[in-house]
Amino acid sequence: MSDISKSEDANGVAAEAHGSARHYTTHPECPYCGHIERDDWEIDFGGIEGDAELTCGKCERDYLCSRSVNVSYSTHPLPNNVIGESHEIRHGNQP
Ligand SMILES: [Zn+2]
Repeated sequence: MSDISKSEDANGVAAEAHGSARHYTTHPECPYCGHIERDDWEIDFGGIEGDAELTCGKCERDYLCSRSVNVSYSTHPLPNNVIGESHEIRHGNQP
């Protein structure tokens, strides 16, 4: 367990080289023959994220596929909804 601290030194590069980091692809990739499954949107993962057992469309072997989804949000104010700056002059104009 003493070489763990050593592998963290190289900015995470060493950890990836060890193969411990997960390999993510935009489509499921058969771990046997490397066939890329392009109908991944048809696969039921039981939710946004999850595991599914897939059958390779090329070599027809079964493998486990885990889907990981990264969600990011970006917000911008709407021009119509900008709260007016309080320049209303109430004093002096009232009778
Ligand atoms: Zn395959």
